[in-house]
Amino acid sequence: MFLDPGHGGLDTGAVGTTMNGNVVMEKTLTLAIALRTATLLRNAGLNVALYRTDDSLPGTVRSDYTADQSALTPKGLLANLQNRIDRANASGARVMLSIHFNAFDDPAVGGSETYYDGARPFATQSERFANLVQETWIAALRANGYDTPDRGVADDQDLVAEDYGTLGVFYHHLVLLGPPVPNRLQASNMPSALIEALFLSDPVEATAINQPTMQDLLARALARAIERYLGVG
Ligand SMILES: [Zn+2]
Repeated sequence: MFLDPGHGGLDTGAVGTTMNGNVVMEKTLTLAIALRTATLLRNAGLNVALYRTDDSLPGTVRSDYTADQSALTPKGLLANLQNRIDRANASGARVMLSIHFNAFDDPAVGGSETYYDGARPFATQSERFANLVQETWIAALRANGYDTPDRGVADDQDLVAEDYGTLGVFYHHLVLLGPPVPNRLQASNMPSALIEALFLSDPVEATAINQPTMQDLLARALARAIERYLGVG
């Protein structure tokens, strides 16, 4: 199993504010949840590799950052995603899960959604895995009294492309999950999904996920989904 905690180091990801005014960063939450999920899976006897285990971006170099070293450039962002893919492939993992949190202009927008890439040779397995992740998380939320919107599972080819360095704006996939591009991107070689577990731009959801109990609920749901996918749960 390969776990990818989204963002890290100078790449904070989404930044939200709780109802009490506490700032919460996507990079901090993704790491906490990935580490907790890894512990649960290891306790169940599974091998787990992670892209990162602290607040850094392993594998990045000075030239991946802007001149003042304050942020990744689009090219550096692509190099970082390639590094995550390379480590996932090198781990020999059967499946990869990337953990993220969402953000939107309207703070009233919330919910959970999970992506897979429908263009890959193993798209059917990826879709099955994405469905297990989404269903297990929504069921855990419901069982604990949260009426968070279920935004479902989506093929990442329906997303508007972001500008990732040499991939430009014509690559309509999530880089981590998508197909290869000759001389520009070597793809991941296992089924995979990316969860946007909640919206940090929604103060209600930012407040909820800032609680250790909620983080534990999410980690347990992810571990359960992974075990079900691998047929060991
Ligand atoms: Zn993210």
